[in-house]
Formats: sequence, structure tokens, C-alpha cells
Amino acid sequence: MKAIQVLSANDVKWVELPTPEIQNPGEVRVRIKAGGICGTDVGIARGTNVFATYPRVIGHEIAGEVESVGSAVTNLVVGDKVVLEPISYCGKCYACRKNRPNVCQHLEVYGIHRDGGFCEYLVAPEEKFHKVPNNFSFEQAALMEPFTIGAQCTWRAGVEPGDMVLITGAGPMGLIAADTCKSLGAEVIISEPNEYRRNMSKLFGADYRINPETEDLKTRVEEITQGMGPNVVIEASGLPSLVSQAIELVSVAGRVVPLGYGAEPVSYSSAMLTKKEASIFGSRLQTNKFAPVIERLAKDLTRVEALITPYPAQQFMQAFSDFKNPEAKICKAVLVF
Ligand code: MN
Repeated sequence: MKAIQVLSANDVKWVELPTPEIQNPGEVRVRIKAGGICGTDVGIARGTNVFATYPRVIGHEIAGEVESVGSAVTNLVVGDKVVLEPISYCGKCYACRKNRPNVCQHLEVYGIHRDGGFCEYLVAPEEKFHKVPNNFSFEQAALMEPFTIGAQCTWRAGVEPGDMVLITGAGPMGLIAADTCKSLGAEVIISEPNEYRRNMSKLFGADYRINPETEDLKTRVEEITQGMGPNVVIEASGLPSLVSQAIELVSVAGRVVPLGYGAEPVSYSSAMLTKKEASIFGSRLQTNKFAPVIERLAKDLTRVEALITPYPAQQFMQAFSDFKNPEAKICKAVLVF
């Protein structure tokens, strides 16, 4: 089968690999149809991701059709449309026992620590695939994975009806986080310098939109929240300095969730954190979020569709560079296999 494999940093190839076979009776083989490109994929391709090992078939936002099933498979049948839940965990460690297998001590993520889905076929235990209704396209189904990230980070932050949420960055994750916050009954402020993305955020429910290059973010946020500050800040731009800023801006008893990550330390005012009794929450992947996310988005796929720019899989290099270029006016590049 054809696959997109990262051999080492900056060495990504369209390769021929053996088609995987079902090895265990509980596994299914899925014919991959669509794969969303994520910052993680581009980071692995460029050698900047701190978690990845090589060589690696990348891709963790993956949808396809069940092509064959093992003898013990009970929940899926050939022809089912599915999305991959791309995590594998031990079930025994502290995190797993606390129902947080997304941070399992022995976690392996498809497309990062083990081979992922930018290829033609993927074999995995049936429970790694979630069925999606037929009104989803494969491209839309693939994007359920980043929507679970939105569900996870808003769950971590305890977003509630009436909360004011500031989201810094309106890339795909910022937009998805905004949409999720709106579904939870919060008000959303978006800060984003790129005009196209700032305008996109309207569709995703942003009640207030700030250009931090022409407006003073702190002043505007204080005006909007009448001096309170946002109750939740979701940092979705990946700039470390914005985490420090988030702790400055957040309200008393507020919560900050940085979505970006890197090896560099981030500094912040501990006096500010204590004074407000603010919390900083790590948020990684998701736990048990696929079913509720699929159910929510199935009712209205307009916003999911608005994120998608499809590319033939062979044009992955073009898709990677367009995805990383804000001027290209692309939210999610989705590879079609
Ligand atoms: Mn992703």
C-alpha cells in the first residue's frame, strides 16, 4: 500500500509498504479515505515534535471504511464509516485507573509513537474505531478527532454556561475550541492577528473579535468583561509568551489551558497565580469524547465542512506548506486517499 512516511527530520516520502493484515480476532482493517493534517504531523515531518520516534507513518485524524473484520469483532461490520481514536494505553497504570488513559504511562499515539493513518489501510482493535453516521463525508469524519481535543480542553477548564472565555489564536484548534465553548453556553472572545482567521471565527461563534496587533488585548478584554477578566483562557496559538499573558489576563478563580507545547520553559508571575487562585491545566488528546462529539456535530456539519480544504494524498507536501501558511487561507488541509 501507499503511505506517507517520515524517515527522519525533513525527509518525508510517499512510499510503498506491505498492506497490514488482521493478526488478532478483535481487529478490523479499515480502508483509509481521509486524513486531517495537524500541527503535530508537520512538527514530526520537520523534526520539532518532542514525542515522535522515526521512521513513522504519520496521521492521527483518520477516517475510512471497514474493509474486513476479525472473527471476534462484534460492534463493526464491513462497510461501516469510522473515525480512528488514535490512542493505545495499558489500562493498568495510575492514569488508566483514574479513567485518564489519554495520559497513560505507556501511551502510544497512532501517527506519533506508532504508525498512523496517512496510508491506504490500517489494522487496529475494533474499539479504536468509532462509527459515524452516513451524513458525514469521510473528510468531516476525520475532523471529529480535533473536535475531541476541543471537548477535552473545555472539560479540563470546566467551561460552564455564562463563562467568558478568551481564546488566543483562531487557527483550527482555536476555532474548534470556540465552537465547543459556544455549545457549552459560554461567551467567546477571540484574539487573532490574521484577518481571514478572525473573520472565520464569527462562524464558530466568537462573540468578540480582537486584533492584538492593532488593539491592546488587555484593555479590550477588560472592557468586554467589565473589569473581571475572562474566566477561562485557552491558548491556541502555541506561542509560549501567551501562557504568561493568559495568567495576567484571567479572572479570579480562572482557568488557563495551553494547547501548544514545547521543550522551552515558560515563565509566569506566581504572585498573580496565587492572588487569583488561578489554575493551569494541561490538556492532551481526549478521554471518552468521540461519542458525544460525533453526536453533537451530526446535527449540523456546517462548521465542520467550513474547516476543510481537501488535497489528493500524493500532494501532501503542498498541503503541509499551505496548512502552515496563514496567507493560504486554509483551516484544515485534509488528505484524500
Ligand atoms: Mn491533531
